[in-house]
Amino acid sequence: MTDGSAPFDLASLIVAHDEGNAYDAVVPPIAQTSLFTFKDYDDMLSSYRGEKVRPIYTRGLNPTVRMFEEMLAKLEGAEDALGFASGMAAISSAVLSFVEPGDRIVAVKHVYPDAFRLFGTILKRMKIEVTYVDGRDEEAVAKALPGAKVFYMESPTSWVMEAHDVGALAGLARKHGVVSMIDNSWASPFFQRPITLGVDLVIHSASKYLGGHSDVVAGVVAGSKEMIGQLKSEAYPYLGGKLSPFDAWLLIRGLRTLPLRMKAHEAAGLTIARRLQELDVVEQVCHPGLANRLPAGLNGTSGLFSFVFREGVDIRPFADHLKLFKLGVSWGGHESLIVPGEVVLQQKAQPNSAHAFGISPRSVRLHVGLEGTEVLWSDIEEAIAAAS
Ligand SMILES: *Cc1c(COP(=O)(O)O)cnc(C)c1O
Repeated sequence: MTDGSAPFDLASLIVAHDEGNAYDAVVPPIAQTSLFTFKDYDDMLSSYRGEKVRPIYTRGLNPTVRMFEEMLAKLEGAEDALGFASGMAAISSAVLSFVEPGDRIVAVKHVYPDAFRLFGTILKRMKIEVTYVDGRDEEAVAKALPGAKVFYMESPTSWVMEAHDVGALAGLARKHGVVSMIDNSWASPFFQRPITLGVDLVIHSASKYLGGHSDVVAGVVAGSKEMIGQLKSEAYPYLGGKLSPFDAWLLIRGLRTLPLRMKAHEAAGLTIARRLQELDVVEQVCHPGLANRLPAGLNGTSGLFSFVFREGVDIRPFADHLKLFKLGVSWGGHESLIVPGEVVLQQKAQPNSAHAFGISPRSVRLHVGLEGTEVLWSDIEEAIAAAS
């Protein structure tokens, strides 16, 4: 579904960053250091006075982290970006930078569960109210926005994968003077570039497709210089959820193969979703690519989706019989994964309104990895035979 015309210029970025490496090393060096020393007293003084921008301490500025931030900003079509120690550090820092007690946030339904829990705990204690709306219902969104400070989006949403017209929703937020942000982890900038659709801030759990190898927990926020500046002024240094240099270096490695990986996840994911839809034991498949067309601005689909078994199918033998799909949370790496809804519904975390996430006990979430469509499909067919 990728038309290939998306202005996603990874190659020129890589060339720009590779120039100047010692001995023309094809991989950039890591600045794996906590601090940077000064030549003399005046050198230190001019840095403290802000007369020159240079790294002083890695929590503030680190060259390897900066390289990742610049790459990601360009890929998202944003002026600037900031790396974080996790997707949740990125989400909490972005949201907290634009609200104060008494403010209201509008969020789409079925957001990532820990974002939902952040809103229901820490923000609630800060007297920040969150109103949930169906992102597919533009009238409802328009009604909820007046007076709100932040419009928090995720498209497609977690688990049930509802895809929204992100450009239209961002336009509504702009009209009402509300700061818009979106969790773009699922699509990655390869398939969706929300800044170009009018969204103010784009957030990623870089632990997923940006990293792509299941060896990093990280996050990033991209947006205008002014809005990223607002994050830099307080939430970034004082909450301190800084991306580490080594993790930034792994993310730079991950970005180099993002287009290839996304195309492979898309092809295998769609094929498996379509075949599941044909099975008698399957009631419903939640995959945005099965609709007649994708919403404007979404140029392809990734490998994460869910489906619902018909009543009477025992999910335990199905999950246990799978060999390539491992039982595991997270997603976005090379490997295929499965999460049964009935397990998630028993999680003890508070507030755990799992039904607010749209999860049914008969549903299963799959991440379709890079092992190959046919071997993955055989794995599923054999597991379904074992469960029926
Ligand atoms: C995993 C995930 C997050 C949280 O990211 P971490 O890196 O685990 O903190 C946020 N949003 C979505 C959609 C996710 O899947």
